[in-house]
Amino acid sequence: MFRFYFRLNLLTRILCALVIGVIIGLIFGESTIHIKIFGDIFLRLLNMIVLPIIMFSLIVGTASISPKRLGAIGSKVFIFYIIVTVLSAIVGVVISLVFHIGGTNIINLVPGGEVTTFEVKKISFLDTLLQIFPTNIFKAMAEGQVLPVIFFAILVGVALSVLKEQDEKKAGAEMFFNLLDAFVEIIYKIVRWIMEYAPIGVLALMAYTVGNQGFEVLKNLFLIIFVIYLSLFILLIVGYFPILHYFKCSPLKFLSKAKDAMITAFVTRSSSGTLPVSMGIADKSFGVPKSIYSFSLPIGATMNMNGTVIYLVVCTVFIATALQIDLLNSKLLVIIIVSTLAAVGTAGIPSAGLIMLVMVLNSVGLSINDPKVAALYTMILGADALMDMGRTCLNVTGDLVGTVVVASTENEIDRSLWE
Ligand code: ASP
Repeated sequence: MFRFYFRLNLLTRILCALVIGVIIGLIFGESTIHIKIFGDIFLRLLNMIVLPIIMFSLIVGTASISPKRLGAIGSKVFIFYIIVTVLSAIVGVVISLVFHIGGTNIINLVPGGEVTTFEVKKISFLDTLLQIFPTNIFKAMAEGQVLPVIFFAILVGVALSVLKEQDEKKAGAEMFFNLLDAFVEIIYKIVRWIMEYAPIGVLALMAYTVGNQGFEVLKNLFLIIFVIYLSLFILLIVGYFPILHYFKCSPLKFLSKAKDAMITAFVTRSSSGTLPVSMGIADKSFGVPKSIYSFSLPIGATMNMNGTVIYLVVCTVFIATALQIDLLNSKLLVIIIVSTLAAVGTAGIPSAGLIMLVMVLNSVGLSINDPKVAALYTMILGADALMDMGRTCLNVTGDLVGTVVVASTENEIDRSLWE
Protein backbone atom coordinates (compact mmCIF):
# COMPACT_ATOMS: atom_id res chain seq x y z
CA MET A 1 0.00 0.00 0.00
CA PHE A 2 2.79 2.38 0.97
CA ARG A 3 4.68 1.47 -2.16
CA PHE A 4 1.60 2.22 -4.25
CA TYR A 5 1.15 5.54 -2.44
CA PHE A 6 4.69 6.68 -3.04
CA ARG A 7 4.59 5.58 -6.65
CA LEU A 8 1.86 8.15 -7.36
CA ASN A 9 3.25 11.55 -8.18
CA LEU A 10 2.87 14.29 -5.60
CA LEU A 11 0.26 16.25 -7.52
CA THR A 12 -2.01 13.21 -7.87
CA ARG A 13 -1.63 12.55 -4.17
CA ILE A 14 -2.52 16.16 -3.32
CA LEU A 15 -5.54 16.14 -5.64
CA CYS A 16 -6.84 12.87 -4.18
CA ALA A 17 -6.35 14.29 -0.69
CA LEU A 18 -8.32 17.37 -1.71
CA VAL A 19 -11.31 15.34 -2.92
CA ILE A 20 -11.25 12.97 0.05
CA GLY A 21 -11.00 16.01 2.35
CA VAL A 22 -14.15 17.57 0.83
CA ILE A 23 -16.04 14.28 1.23
CA ILE A 24 -14.93 13.89 4.84
CA GLY A 25 -15.92 17.51 5.51
CA LEU A 26 -19.39 16.98 4.08
CA ILE A 27 -19.93 13.78 6.05
CA PHE A 28 -18.44 14.71 9.40
CA GLY A 29 -19.22 18.44 9.51
CA GLU A 30 -17.97 20.23 12.58
CA SER A 31 -16.35 17.16 14.09
CA THR A 32 -13.58 17.59 11.52
CA ILE A 33 -12.12 19.94 14.11
CA HIS A 34 -10.38 16.86 15.52
CA ILE A 35 -8.22 16.41 12.45
CA LYS A 36 -7.56 20.11 12.01
CA ILE A 37 -4.23 19.68 13.80
CA PHE A 38 -2.77 17.81 10.81
CA GLY A 39 -3.57 20.78 8.60
CA ASP A 40 -2.17 23.19 11.17
CA ILE A 41 1.08 21.24 11.24
CA PHE A 42 1.37 21.64 7.47
CA LEU A 43 0.75 25.39 7.66
CA ARG A 44 3.26 25.74 10.49
CA LEU A 45 5.90 23.86 8.54
CA LEU A 46 5.36 26.14 5.55
CA ASN A 47 5.47 29.19 7.76
CA MET A 48 8.65 27.95 9.39
CA ILE A 49 10.41 27.93 6.06
CA VAL A 50 8.98 31.13 4.58
CA LEU A 51 11.19 33.70 6.22
CA PRO A 52 14.50 31.90 5.61
CA ILE A 53 13.48 31.40 1.98
CA ILE A 54 12.55 35.04 1.44
CA MET A 55 15.65 36.30 3.21
CA PHE A 56 18.30 34.05 1.70
CA SER A 57 16.90 33.57 -1.77
CA LEU A 58 16.50 37.31 -2.14
CA ILE A 59 20.07 37.95 -1.04
CA VAL A 60 21.38 35.27 -3.38
CA GLY A 61 19.01 36.36 -6.18
CA THR A 62 19.95 40.02 -5.94
CA ALA A 63 23.64 39.28 -5.55
CA SER A 64 23.67 37.08 -8.65
CA ILE A 65 22.58 39.98 -10.85
CA SER A 66 25.47 42.21 -11.81
CA PRO A 67 25.10 45.78 -10.48
CA LYS A 68 24.71 47.04 -14.05
CA ARG A 69 21.63 44.88 -14.76
CA LEU A 70 20.05 45.13 -11.32
CA GLY A 71 18.20 48.38 -12.05
CA ALA A 72 16.73 47.09 -15.32
CA ILE A 73 15.49 43.77 -13.91
CA GLY A 74 14.25 45.33 -10.67
CA SER A 75 12.25 48.02 -12.42
CA LYS A 76 10.76 45.56 -14.92
CA VAL A 77 9.56 43.38 -12.06
CA PHE A 78 7.98 46.29 -10.21
CA ILE A 79 6.39 47.87 -13.28
CA PHE A 80 4.89 44.56 -14.40
CA TYR A 81 3.43 43.89 -10.97
CA ILE A 82 1.85 47.33 -10.68
CA ILE A 83 0.33 47.18 -14.18
CA VAL A 84 -1.29 43.76 -13.66
CA THR A 85 -2.57 44.76 -10.23
CA VAL A 86 -4.34 47.83 -11.63
CA LEU A 87 -5.66 45.73 -14.52
CA SER A 88 -7.04 43.21 -12.02
CA ALA A 89 -8.77 45.96 -10.04
CA ILE A 90 -10.44 47.23 -13.21
CA VAL A 91 -11.61 43.72 -14.13
CA GLY A 92 -13.06 43.32 -10.62
CA VAL A 93 -14.96 46.63 -10.77
CA VAL A 94 -16.38 46.01 -14.25
CA ILE A 95 -17.57 42.48 -13.47
CA SER A 96 -19.17 43.47 -10.17
CA LEU A 97 -21.02 46.34 -11.85
CA VAL A 98 -22.16 44.08 -14.68
CA PHE A 99 -23.61 41.59 -12.19
CA HIS A 100 -24.93 44.38 -10.01
CA ILE A 101 -23.79 42.56 -6.89
CA GLY A 102 -25.32 43.62 -3.63
CA GLY A 103 -28.27 44.95 -5.61
CA THR A 104 -30.91 42.75 -4.01
CA ASN A 105 -32.02 43.57 -0.53
CA ILE A 106 -29.09 41.64 0.79
CA ILE A 107 -28.90 43.25 4.20
CA ASN A 108 -32.02 41.28 5.20
CA LEU A 109 -30.20 38.09 4.37
CA VAL A 110 -27.49 38.49 6.96
CA PRO A 111 -27.60 35.22 8.90
CA GLY A 112 -29.69 35.63 12.04
CA GLY A 113 -29.40 39.38 11.64
CA GLU A 114 -26.72 39.33 14.32
CA VAL A 115 -23.89 41.70 14.22
CA THR A 116 -20.38 41.07 15.37
CA THR A 117 -18.40 43.90 16.80
CA PHE A 118 -14.86 44.16 15.60
CA GLU A 119 -11.71 45.31 17.16
CA VAL A 120 -10.44 47.34 14.26
CA LYS A 121 -6.82 48.19 14.18
CA LYS A 122 -6.35 51.43 12.29
CA ILE A 123 -3.91 50.85 9.48
CA SER A 124 -2.41 54.00 8.07
CA PHE A 125 -0.38 54.17 4.92
CA LEU A 126 2.42 56.15 6.44
CA ASP A 127 2.78 53.49 9.13
CA THR A 128 2.97 50.75 6.51
CA LEU A 129 5.55 52.74 4.61
CA LEU A 130 7.62 53.38 7.69
CA GLN A 131 7.57 49.72 8.65
CA ILE A 132 9.53 48.84 5.53
CA PHE A 133 12.57 50.29 7.27
CA PRO A 134 13.43 48.08 10.24
CA THR A 135 14.91 49.48 13.40
CA ASN A 136 16.00 46.01 14.38
CA ILE A 137 16.20 43.38 11.67
CA PHE A 138 16.26 40.48 14.13
CA LYS A 139 13.10 41.72 15.80
CA ALA A 140 11.44 42.08 12.38
CA MET A 141 12.42 38.50 11.54
CA ALA A 142 11.25 37.14 14.87
CA GLU A 143 7.91 38.85 14.38
CA GLY A 144 7.62 37.53 10.84
CA GLN A 145 7.37 40.99 9.26
CA VAL A 146 8.03 40.41 5.61
CA LEU A 147 8.51 43.91 4.19
CA PRO A 148 11.47 44.93 6.41
CA VAL A 149 13.07 41.54 5.78
CA ILE A 150 12.76 42.04 2.01
CA PHE A 151 14.21 45.53 2.29
CA PHE A 152 17.18 44.30 4.32
CA ALA A 153 17.77 41.28 2.08
CA ILE A 154 17.81 43.43 -1.07
CA LEU A 155 20.29 45.82 0.58
CA VAL A 156 22.59 42.95 1.54
CA GLY A 157 22.22 41.46 -1.95
CA VAL A 158 23.09 44.72 -3.70
CA ALA A 159 26.09 45.27 -1.43
CA LEU A 160 27.27 41.72 -2.08
CA SER A 161 26.83 42.11 -5.81
CA VAL A 162 28.92 45.30 -5.77
CA LEU A 163 31.65 43.76 -3.56
CA LYS A 164 31.89 40.70 -5.80
CA GLU A 165 33.13 43.00 -8.57
CA GLN A 166 35.77 44.78 -6.49
CA ASP A 167 39.18 43.14 -6.75
CA GLU A 168 40.28 43.47 -3.15
CA LYS A 169 36.90 42.34 -1.68
CA LYS A 170 36.11 39.72 -4.28
CA ALA A 171 37.39 36.61 -2.48
CA GLY A 172 35.46 37.18 0.76
CA ALA A 173 32.31 38.20 -1.05
CA GLU A 174 32.39 35.12 -3.31
CA MET A 175 32.90 32.88 -0.30
CA PHE A 176 29.95 34.40 1.53
CA PHE A 177 27.83 34.15 -1.59
CA ASN A 178 28.63 30.45 -2.05
CA LEU A 179 27.86 29.79 1.57
CA LEU A 180 24.44 31.44 1.29
CA ASP A 181 23.80 29.67 -1.98
CA ALA A 182 24.48 26.33 -0.32
CA PHE A 183 22.17 27.29 2.51
CA VAL A 184 19.39 28.07 0.03
CA GLU A 185 19.85 24.57 -1.42
CA ILE A 186 19.51 23.11 2.07
CA ILE A 187 16.25 24.99 2.56
CA TYR A 188 14.91 23.71 -0.78
CA LYS A 189 15.70 20.17 0.35
CA ILE A 190 13.67 20.69 3.51
CA VAL A 191 10.85 22.10 1.43
CA ARG A 192 10.74 18.95 -0.66
CA TRP A 193 10.37 16.94 2.53
CA ILE A 194 7.58 19.22 3.74
CA MET A 195 5.77 18.74 0.45
CA GLU A 196 5.78 15.00 1.01
CA TYR A 197 3.59 15.73 4.00
CA ALA A 198 1.33 18.02 1.92
CA PRO A 199 -1.35 15.43 1.05
CA ILE A 200 -2.06 14.78 4.74
CA GLY A 201 -2.15 18.49 5.51
CA VAL A 202 -4.37 19.23 2.53
CA LEU A 203 -6.83 16.49 3.44
CA ALA A 204 -7.20 17.87 6.95
CA LEU A 205 -7.46 21.51 5.81
CA MET A 206 -10.13 20.75 3.22
CA ALA A 207 -12.15 18.58 5.57
CA TYR A 208 -12.10 21.27 8.22
CA THR A 209 -12.97 24.13 5.87
CA VAL A 210 -15.85 22.33 4.20
CA GLY A 211 -16.99 20.77 7.49
CA ASN A 212 -17.16 24.09 9.29
CA GLN A 213 -18.20 26.55 6.62
CA GLY A 214 -20.60 24.08 5.03
CA PHE A 215 -22.86 25.11 2.24
CA GLU A 216 -25.24 27.07 4.47
CA VAL A 217 -23.27 30.29 4.66
CA LEU A 218 -22.45 29.91 1.05
CA LYS A 219 -25.97 30.07 -0.20
CA ASN A 220 -26.28 33.78 0.58
CA LEU A 221 -22.88 34.50 -0.72
CA PHE A 222 -23.18 32.50 -3.85
CA LEU A 223 -23.27 35.48 -6.19
CA ILE A 224 -20.31 37.28 -4.67
CA ILE A 225 -18.21 34.13 -4.68
CA PHE A 226 -19.25 33.47 -8.27
CA VAL A 227 -18.30 37.01 -9.30
CA ILE A 228 -14.91 36.73 -7.63
CA TYR A 229 -14.13 33.42 -9.31
CA LEU A 230 -15.43 34.70 -12.64
CA SER A 231 -13.21 37.80 -12.41
CA LEU A 232 -10.24 35.61 -11.55
CA PHE A 233 -10.96 33.45 -14.55
CA ILE A 234 -11.42 36.47 -16.84
CA LEU A 235 -8.12 37.94 -15.69
CA LEU A 236 -6.46 34.66 -16.53
CA ILE A 237 -7.99 34.55 -20.01
CA VAL A 238 -7.92 38.22 -21.06
CA GLY A 239 -4.93 39.31 -19.00
CA TYR A 240 -2.34 36.60 -18.51
CA PHE A 241 -2.94 34.51 -21.62
CA PRO A 242 -2.40 37.33 -24.17
CA ILE A 243 0.65 38.51 -22.22
CA LEU A 244 2.16 35.01 -22.27
CA HIS A 245 1.27 34.62 -25.91
CA TYR A 246 2.96 37.92 -26.73
CA PHE A 247 6.14 36.68 -25.12
CA LYS A 248 5.95 33.45 -27.11
CA CYS A 249 5.12 31.18 -24.18
CA SER A 250 2.13 28.93 -24.79
CA PRO A 251 -0.54 29.71 -22.16
CA LEU A 252 -1.60 26.07 -21.99
CA LYS A 253 1.98 24.93 -21.47
CA PHE A 254 2.23 27.58 -18.79
CA LEU A 255 -0.80 26.19 -16.99
CA SER A 256 0.42 22.64 -17.15
CA LYS A 257 3.80 23.70 -15.77
CA ALA A 258 2.38 26.01 -13.12
CA LYS A 259 -0.37 23.71 -11.84
CA ASP A 260 1.51 22.38 -8.81
CA ALA A 261 2.02 25.89 -7.50
CA MET A 262 -1.56 26.88 -8.34
CA ILE A 263 -2.97 23.93 -6.43
CA THR A 264 -0.64 24.46 -3.49
CA ALA A 265 -1.73 28.10 -3.34
CA PHE A 266 -5.37 27.06 -3.55
CA VAL A 267 -5.19 24.72 -0.59
CA THR A 268 -2.70 26.53 1.62
CA ARG A 269 -4.17 29.99 0.96
CA SER A 270 -0.72 31.42 1.33
CA SER A 271 1.39 32.98 -1.43
CA SER A 272 4.45 33.00 0.78
CA GLY A 273 3.89 29.39 1.75
CA THR A 274 3.71 28.45 -1.92
CA LEU A 275 6.97 30.20 -2.69
CA PRO A 276 9.14 27.07 -2.49
CA VAL A 277 6.92 25.29 -5.01
CA SER A 278 6.84 28.30 -7.36
CA MET A 279 10.61 28.55 -7.24
CA GLY A 280 11.02 24.89 -8.14
CA ILE A 281 8.73 25.39 -11.15
CA ALA A 282 10.47 28.54 -12.36
CA ASP A 283 13.77 26.70 -12.14
CA LYS A 284 12.97 23.27 -13.57
CA SER A 285 9.89 23.74 -15.75
CA PHE A 286 10.13 27.34 -16.96
CA GLY A 287 13.88 27.39 -17.47
CA VAL A 288 14.25 30.80 -15.83
CA PRO A 289 17.65 31.56 -14.24
CA LYS A 290 17.91 31.75 -10.49
CA SER A 291 19.10 35.35 -10.69
CA ILE A 292 15.65 36.34 -11.95
CA TYR A 293 13.19 34.07 -10.15
CA SER A 294 14.82 34.32 -6.77
CA PHE A 295 14.24 38.04 -7.04
CA SER A 296 10.86 38.22 -8.80
CA LEU A 297 9.05 35.47 -6.88
CA PRO A 298 9.66 36.54 -3.27
CA ILE A 299 8.82 40.12 -4.23
CA GLY A 300 5.72 38.90 -6.06
CA ALA A 301 4.60 36.70 -3.16
CA THR A 302 4.61 39.76 -0.96
CA MET A 303 3.51 42.55 -3.24
CA ASN A 304 1.81 41.22 -6.35
CA MET A 305 -1.68 40.23 -5.29
CA ASN A 306 -3.88 40.19 -8.38
CA GLY A 307 -6.48 37.90 -6.87
CA THR A 308 -6.60 39.88 -3.65
CA VAL A 309 -7.18 43.16 -5.44
CA ILE A 310 -10.14 41.62 -7.30
CA TYR A 311 -11.55 40.38 -4.01
CA LEU A 312 -11.12 43.81 -2.41
CA VAL A 313 -12.95 45.71 -5.13
CA VAL A 314 -15.73 43.14 -5.52
CA CYS A 315 -16.43 43.06 -1.78
CA THR A 316 -16.34 46.84 -1.50
CA VAL A 317 -18.73 47.30 -4.41
CA PHE A 318 -20.93 44.58 -2.89
CA ILE A 319 -21.16 46.23 0.52
CA ALA A 320 -21.58 49.74 -0.87
CA THR A 321 -24.32 48.67 -3.27
CA ALA A 322 -26.10 46.66 -0.59
CA LEU A 323 -26.20 49.82 1.52
CA GLN A 324 -27.50 51.76 -1.46
CA ILE A 325 -24.48 53.99 -1.68
CA ASP A 326 -24.10 55.55 -5.09
CA LEU A 327 -20.80 54.51 -6.54
CA LEU A 328 -20.09 57.44 -8.79
CA ASN A 329 -17.09 57.33 -11.07
CA SER A 330 -14.87 59.18 -8.64
CA LYS A 331 -15.60 56.65 -5.88
CA LEU A 332 -14.84 53.76 -8.21
CA LEU A 333 -11.52 55.36 -8.97
CA VAL A 334 -10.79 55.65 -5.26
CA ILE A 335 -11.71 51.98 -4.80
CA ILE A 336 -9.33 50.98 -7.61
CA ILE A 337 -6.43 53.06 -6.28
CA VAL A 338 -6.84 52.15 -2.62
CA SER A 339 -7.38 48.46 -3.41
CA THR A 340 -4.21 48.43 -5.49
CA LEU A 341 -2.20 49.94 -2.66
CA ALA A 342 -3.87 47.70 -0.09
CA ALA A 343 -3.08 44.62 -2.17
CA VAL A 344 0.60 45.64 -2.33
CA GLY A 345 0.58 45.79 1.45
CA THR A 346 -1.24 42.47 1.93
CA ALA A 347 0.88 39.74 3.44
CA GLY A 348 1.00 36.43 1.58
CA ILE A 349 -0.71 34.54 4.38
CA PRO A 350 -4.21 33.11 4.77
CA SER A 351 -6.99 35.70 5.12
CA ALA A 352 -4.66 38.70 5.11
CA GLY A 353 -6.90 40.31 2.49
CA LEU A 354 -9.81 40.26 4.91
CA ILE A 355 -8.01 42.75 7.13
CA MET A 356 -7.10 44.96 4.18
CA LEU A 357 -10.77 45.04 3.21
CA VAL A 358 -11.44 47.11 6.33
CA MET A 359 -9.05 49.73 5.03
CA VAL A 360 -10.57 49.85 1.55
CA LEU A 361 -14.04 50.16 3.05
CA ASN A 362 -12.85 53.06 5.17
CA SER A 363 -11.56 54.81 2.09
CA VAL A 364 -15.09 55.07 0.68
CA GLY A 365 -16.52 56.12 4.01
CA LEU A 366 -17.78 52.72 5.14
CA SER A 367 -16.76 52.21 8.73
CA ILE A 368 -16.81 48.75 10.16
CA ASN A 369 -18.13 50.27 13.39
CA ASP A 370 -21.41 50.86 11.63
CA PRO A 371 -23.61 47.83 12.50
CA LYS A 372 -24.86 47.40 8.94
CA VAL A 373 -21.37 47.44 7.44
CA ALA A 374 -20.25 45.10 10.19
CA ALA A 375 -23.07 42.67 9.41
CA LEU A 376 -22.18 42.53 5.74
CA TYR A 377 -18.52 42.21 6.59
CA THR A 378 -19.38 39.28 8.86
CA MET A 379 -21.11 37.57 5.97
CA ILE A 380 -17.99 37.89 3.86
CA LEU A 381 -15.85 36.79 6.77
CA GLY A 382 -17.92 33.62 7.06
CA ALA A 383 -16.95 32.45 3.63
CA ASP A 384 -13.53 34.02 3.45
CA ALA A 385 -11.64 30.74 3.26
CA LEU A 386 -13.38 29.84 0.01
CA MET A 387 -12.64 33.18 -1.58
CA ASP A 388 -9.11 33.13 -0.24
CA MET A 389 -8.40 29.88 -2.06
CA GLY A 390 -9.23 31.38 -5.46
CA ARG A 391 -7.52 34.69 -4.91
CA THR A 392 -4.32 33.14 -3.57
CA CYS A 393 -4.21 30.83 -6.57
CA LEU A 394 -4.36 33.85 -8.87
CA ASN A 395 -1.85 35.79 -6.78
CA VAL A 396 0.70 33.04 -7.29
CA THR A 397 -0.16 32.63 -10.97
CA GLY A 398 0.47 36.36 -11.47
CA ASP A 399 3.92 36.07 -9.88
CA LEU A 400 4.80 33.20 -12.19
CA VAL A 401 3.56 35.10 -15.27
CA GLY A 402 5.66 38.10 -14.19
CA THR A 403 8.71 35.89 -13.81
CA VAL A 404 8.28 34.42 -17.30
CA VAL A 405 7.75 37.88 -18.80
CA VAL A 406 10.80 39.46 -17.16
CA ALA A 407 12.98 36.48 -18.09
CA SER A 408 11.72 36.70 -21.70
CA THR A 409 12.46 40.40 -22.00
CA GLU A 410 15.95 39.70 -20.70
CA ASN A 411 16.26 36.82 -23.19
CA GLU A 412 17.06 34.52 -20.33
CA ILE A 413 14.44 31.82 -20.66
CA ASP A 414 15.19 28.31 -21.83
CA ARG A 415 13.01 28.25 -24.96
CA SER A 416 13.53 24.52 -25.47
CA LEU A 417 11.24 23.90 -22.50
CA TRP A 418 8.40 25.82 -24.19
CA GLU A 419 8.43 24.13 -27.59
N1 ASP B 1 -4.08 34.60 1.19
C1 ASP B 1 -3.63 35.55 0.23
C2 ASP B 1 -2.22 35.20 -0.20
O1 ASP B 1 -1.50 34.57 0.52
C3 ASP B 1 -3.65 36.94 0.72
C4 ASP B 1 -5.07 37.34 0.95
O2 ASP B 1 -5.63 37.01 2.00
O3 ASP B 1 -5.66 37.97 0.07
O4 ASP B 1 -1.82 35.55 -1.27
